[in-house]
Amino acid sequence: MSEDITPETVQLPETELGIAPVSKPVIGRIVSNDSCLKGKSASFVRHTEIDISGTPLEGRCLVGQAFGILAPGVDERGKPHKVRLYSIACPSDGEDGAGKVISTTTKRTIDERTPQKKIDDPDDHSLFLGVCSNYLCNLRPGDEVKVTGPNGKRFLLPTSSSNHDFLFVATGTGIAPFRGMAMELVERGSTASQIHLLMGTPYTTDLIYDDLFTRLAAEHENFHYHTAISRETHHNGQPGQYVHHLLEKQMDTFDPLLSNPRTLLYICGLAGMQSGLFQVMAQHNIGDGYFTLKNQLAGVAPSDWDLSQVRRGVKTTERCMVEVY
Ligand code: NAP
Repeated sequence: MSEDITPETVQLPETELGIAPVSKPVIGRIVSNDSCLKGKSASFVRHTEIDISGTPLEGRCLVGQAFGILAPGVDERGKPHKVRLYSIACPSDGEDGAGKVISTTTKRTIDERTPQKKIDDPDDHSLFLGVCSNYLCNLRPGDEVKVTGPNGKRFLLPTSSSNHDFLFVATGTGIAPFRGMAMELVERGSTASQIHLLMGTPYTTDLIYDDLFTRLAAEHENFHYHTAISRETHHNGQPGQYVHHLLEKQMDTFDPLLSNPRTLLYICGLAGMQSGLFQVMAQHNIGDGYFTLKNQLAGVAPSDWDLSQVRRGVKTTERCMVEVY
């Protein structure tokens, strides 16, 4: 560890934002677009690789950032579709080690219509397909795609990663940045950091990049892969669990990890997931380095916190990065 860095200091890399703005997207080319789910599932999730070589984005996208995709066509008001952001799923040097090919994790949005406004037909439950996710999932190798970005300057790996240990917590496609981060830290980095990945999905078949993480855990002693499956009964009869249930159940592992001032916590996925995590951490007195409580939560028992209270009353520190939607 260099002399002027304490374990608590988190130095993030400089970022270049908006190199390719919406008004001037670059043209990327699809390299591959393959399913990345463990098994047959009601969801469809693809690992999409895009060649950006020769464009201003080449070599300038960092793991943890996002890029934008502009779907062709217009919306119901006749306006061009708005840009949609997708988390980068590869290391900062890309899929190819040279920053020429970037990737993301794309889940098809497939749902029934539900009335949103007073003017909407309450009986219309016809099929709804998300515009950009389905556009992206339908693309084939060789197809062109308009890419913008990069976006994001905080959900990043620190510059001195060997000064830190890491707990990554994902639900669903929130796994995207952690694929790139795990590859960067474990496969292309040092062995100085302990890295724990905690992944939550409805069913085992919904696990994303499971073969990669299983391999990394088998090949690298410092990489640990934990899964929380919410809708399956465990073989010992235990009900399904969320990521914070697993955190609590394995306190003998996670208490020492989170109590260590080297550790950084990254949370990515569903909007509701951070409240359970913060509640469990507060109940076990291991939240201090990661968040502080504003006045409205002072004196309220963590078991009584609800999501809106957590959103308003918890302030994360520099050791806790949260990206949830
Ligand atoms: P999914 O496959 O449905 O998996 C989500 C898992 O989390 C399920 O097991 C679900 O359980 C569980 N869950 C539900 N509520 C929870 C809670 N309060 N605490 C903990 N776990 C909970 O996920 P998905 O459809 O891919 O959705 C992923 C989300 O991540 C999307 O909202 C997406 O926008 C977001 N995302 C954000 C970023 C980013 O911010 N950069 C990147 C990628 C994805 P049950 O369904 O069984 O209740």
